[in-house]
Parts: sequence; C-alpha cells; structure tokens
Amino acid sequence: MTDAYRLDCESAAADCRFIVQSEKESEAVELASDHMQEVHGQEVTDDELRTEHLETV
Ligand SMILES: [Zn+2]
Repeated sequence: MTDAYRLDCESAAADCRFIVQSEKESEAVELASDHMQEVHGQEVTDDELRTEHLETV
C-alpha cells in the first residue's frame, strides 16, 4: 500500500478544480507551487502548501 500526496486547489481557490497527486511529497508541493504562481499569480510557500492544503490519500 502506497500513500499518495494530494493537493486540491479548490481548498485554496474556490473556483479552481486543479488537483495534484503524487507519491512524492516534494513533487506534489512543487507542482502545486508552480500552479499557484502560473494560474493564480500567488506566491504560496512550500510550508504553507504542506500544512494547509496537502493531504495523504
Ligand atoms: Zn488552481
């Protein structure tokens, strides 16, 4: 059984359905961070993404 890290952008931006899922936490956070900058123009720190938006599934 492998845990995956999942980050649902909807929790940060209500009208966005972007979802990142990866078996690697660092990869999930990196992809989400890129997405937040490119699509929402927001600088979100890795820590913030980890503590507030990342869930394991
Ligand atoms: Zn988004």
